[in-house]
Amino acid sequence: MSEIRPARARVFAFNLGSFKAAALLDAADIRDNLASAFAAGQPAAAVRDLAAANFIDPDRYEHCFIPTLIDTGSQKILFDTGCGEEDSSLLGCLQDLGLGPDDIDVVVITHGHPDHIGGLVRNGEPVFNRARHVFGAAEFAFWTQGDAVRPARLANRDLFRLICTGLAERATFIVPGDEVVPGIIAVDAAGHSPGLLAFLVENSGQRLLIWSDAFLHYAVSIQHPEWHADFDDDKEQAVETRKRLLKMAAEQRLLIAGHHMPFPGLGYVERANGSFRWIPVGYQLNI
Ligand SMILES: [Zn+2]
Repeated sequence: MSEIRPARARVFAFNLGSFKAAALLDAADIRDNLASAFAAGQPAAAVRDLAAANFIDPDRYEHCFIPTLIDTGSQKILFDTGCGEEDSSLLGCLQDLGLGPDDIDVVVITHGHPDHIGGLVRNGEPVFNRARHVFGAAEFAFWTQGDAVRPARLANRDLFRLICTGLAERATFIVPGDEVVPGIIAVDAAGHSPGLLAFLVENSGQRLLIWSDAFLHYAVSIQHPEWHADFDDDKEQAVETRKRLLKMAAEQRLLIAGHHMPFPGLGYVERANGSFRWIPVGYQLNI
C-alpha cells in the first residue's frame, strides 16, 4: 500500500514589478531550545508563554536557510549561497528554475557566516564561475583581518579565509547606501555580524527588503527584538538594528525576505501589542 511521504516545495517564485524573484530553500534543520538560541537570559516562563501564544514548541524549532534570487531582466543576482553541504539544495533549486550556476551574474554575500558563504566554492573551485561577487567592505575586512573575532567564531574566521580570500579578485566591495545594480541598494544591518548588509530591492513601485540574519526567528526576534540571540556577535547593536528595521518595514509596508524565517521566508511586519508581528505571505504575490 502506498502512503503519503514527507514532501515540501523548495522554490517559491514571484514577481516584484518587472523583476522576477525566487526564495530558494537550501536546507531546513530541526534544532533544540528556542530560549538558549534566541532569548539568552530571559526567564524560562517568558519564552514558554511566547511559544504558547504563537502555537509553537518552546523546545524544538525549525531553522530554514533561504537564499534569494532576483532577476532584473538583464542580470540574475543571488543573495547568499547557503550551507554548501552534501545535502544542500541551492543548486537543485536553481535547476528547478531551469538555471545553472553559470547563469548567475552577481553573487551578493550579506555576511560571512557559514550558512551564507558555504555554497560559494566546491572542491576549492568557485561555483558561480561567471559571476561578479559582492561583499560588504566592513564584513570582508573583519574576517580577513581577524583580530576582533570572538572565540566562538574562530572556526568561522578560518572558513571565511579559506572560501572568500581567493574570490577577492572577482569581487566588488560595498558599504551601506551603495547600489549593487540599479534598483538594489545596501542597507546597514550590523550587529548579528559586524558588517551585515540588508538590501532594498525596488522596481515599478514594488519593494522588497532582504533582511538576511537581522532576524533569526519569526516570532521571538520580531515580537521581542530586545532579546539577545546567541548567534549575534554584537548583541546590543543587533537589538538596535532590529528596532530600526522593524520600524522601517512596518511604516513602509515592505515585503520582507528573511533568510531564517519559515519557508518561503516572505512576509510583512505589523505593529501589534506594543511591539511587532510577522505576517507571512498569503496569495498576494501570486495574483
Ligand atoms: Zn544565517
